[in-house]
Amino acid sequence: MVKYNGQEFILNNCGYYVSRRGLDIIGLLHRYKYEIEHNCVIPKGMVIHHKNFDRLDNDIDNLQIMTRAKHNKIHHEGTKHSEEAKRKIGDSHRGKPRSQEVRFKISEGVSRYNENKRKNKTA
Ligand SMILES: [Zn+2]
Repeated sequence: MVKYNGQEFILNNCGYYVSRRGLDIIGLLHRYKYEIEHNCVIPKGMVIHHKNFDRLDNDIDNLQIMTRAKHNKIHHEGTKHSEEAKRKIGDSHRGKPRSQEVRFKISEGVSRYNENKRKNKTA
């Protein structure tokens, strides 16, 4: 279990950290973190890639946004995901509506993030 920005994330069976509050609200740690720290909404169809292929290394510098096509190519050339994991990952990323709730999630997360930063530089 890791904590980020006041949220708890647990490892799911694909090897990704996922929010204990549920996939729909907070979602995957690396995507959440990317959105919070870049203060942006990840556009539909874009994926967040772990540059060093280590899904447990969610350092912001290890996260890179790219198109799904490019991402597939990268993983095809040096894949560490099993076919089943790929399918599951696809499922977890696919077709999430960017609702009001998601936008609220990000703005709420960003303000908490900035607040934590003020209070504690290691947050
Ligand atoms: Zn990747």
